[in-house]
Amino acid sequence: MYVSMTDILQDAHKNNYAVMAVNSINMEMARAVISAAEEERSPIIVNIGMGQMKKHAHANVMVPMIKKLAEEAKVPVALNHDHGQDLDFIIKCIQDGFSSVMIDASSFPFEENVHRTSTIVKLAHPHNICVEAELGHVGQAADGDNSKADLYTDPEQAKKFVELTGVDALAVAVGTAHGSYPKGYVPKLDFERLALLKKTLDMPLVLHGGSGSGEENIRKAVACGINKINVCTDAFNVAQKAMVDRMAENPKADYLDLCMTAEAAMKEFVKNYIRVIGSNNRYVFGEAKIVGHE
Ligand SMILES: [Zn+2]
Repeated sequence: MYVSMTDILQDAHKNNYAVMAVNSINMEMARAVISAAEEERSPIIVNIGMGQMKKHAHANVMVPMIKKLAEEAKVPVALNHDHGQDLDFIIKCIQDGFSSVMIDASSFPFEENVHRTSTIVKLAHPHNICVEAELGHVGQAADGDNSKADLYTDPEQAKKFVELTGVDALAVAVGTAHGSYPKGYVPKLDFERLALLKKTLDMPLVLHGGSGSGEENIRKAVACGINKINVCTDAFNVAQKAMVDRMAENPKADYLDLCMTAEAAMKEFVKNYIRVIGSNNRYVFGEAKIVGHE
């Protein structure tokens, strides 16, 4: 069923588990992610970023396809616009039928972040569309941003931010970063800060830059209050590796074979990840609200 991300995250918040949000840029990824969730009886979130949509995963094709897959699924599925930075583009996503949007104004000063986030909340909430925002800044692994403590989220400032904006979920910076960490490097997460953020805010929290953080960090982050984990780089790497391995095994493997190989590998990856973060064997929501776009 196709639901607002709020339904998924509120249940995860109440019951202390996390749900994957996997960046999916084509049919194979979306289907791998949703069918993995179905087999694990887990809620799931499909993520698409603006760059991904502009370059390849065009909304006019992706949204109806994902909604169709979601409506046929026996588990709750949300579609989230990941890292929305362009207000007009976010509004278009709302009109196109996304069930959730992220407004990322985390690189702006506090007041501007509040202003931009509130604007989107006012537009999205009448349509039962969930809004995620970011405070503090989850930067790039390539720039070493994960260890810059001045970018981390401050709990008291976050409390004020949530009161002023009315956001449904908050992405927090506690020591992860986007992209790939240097080989062999495992980031150090500020779990104390994360636990304090959870206690202060008492709402769904989101971890960005989860790829390459290691299973132990991920499990601990969930135990400390994370309810949504964004996964992009890890999923893309799994698909790529599956295709490269298949080509090495059979250099004559055709395109259909490669697509099917990548989809099967992503599905296994998502199923395993779901078990790590504890969203498996959650019930199918009996009263999930279906998003309306009248
Ligand atoms: Zn992110």
